[in-house]
Amino acid sequence: MTLKYCQGPECHMKKTQDRLRGTKGNKTYQTRRRSSFYYGNGNFCSLWCQNDWFQKFGEQAVDHFGRLNEPKHLTEQNAWTKDYDWNSTSYEDRDRTYYYLNKITEERRPLTEAQYRDTNYDINIGE
Ligand SMILES: [Zn+2]
Repeated sequence: MTLKYCQGPECHMKKTQDRLRGTKGNKTYQTRRRSSFYYGNGNFCSLWCQNDWFQKFGEQAVDHFGRLNEPKHLTEQNAWTKDYDWNSTSYEDRDRTYYYLNKITEERRPLTEAQYRDTNYDINIGE
C-alpha cells in the first residue's frame, strides 16, 4: 500500500504529536502521510487542510478549469438525474429500484443497477 502526503500547504504548521517525525534530537513537524485520507477525494487529512489549499489555489483552479461567466440553465434536455427507491414491501425484498428522473417533467425511466453505477452512462443532452 502506497502512502501519500496530505496536500494541505500548511499541514506541517499544525503541531500535533502524529506530525512530529524523525530521529531523536532531529524531530520536525511534518506533512501527514497516510494510505488514505477522508477529505477532498482522498487528498487532505482534514477540512482545515482542504480549506487551506482552496484558500491558496482555489482562484487559480477555478480560472484554469473554467470560470462560469453566465448562468447555467436547467432544461428538459439536461434535467435527467439518477435516483433509486427502496423496495421495502417485504422484509426480504429490499432491492433498490433504479431510475432516471427528469427534474422538469417528472418523467421516470427505468435503469439497471449497472447503468446507475456507470458514470459514463448519461442521457443528458448538452450541459
Ligand atoms: Zn493535512
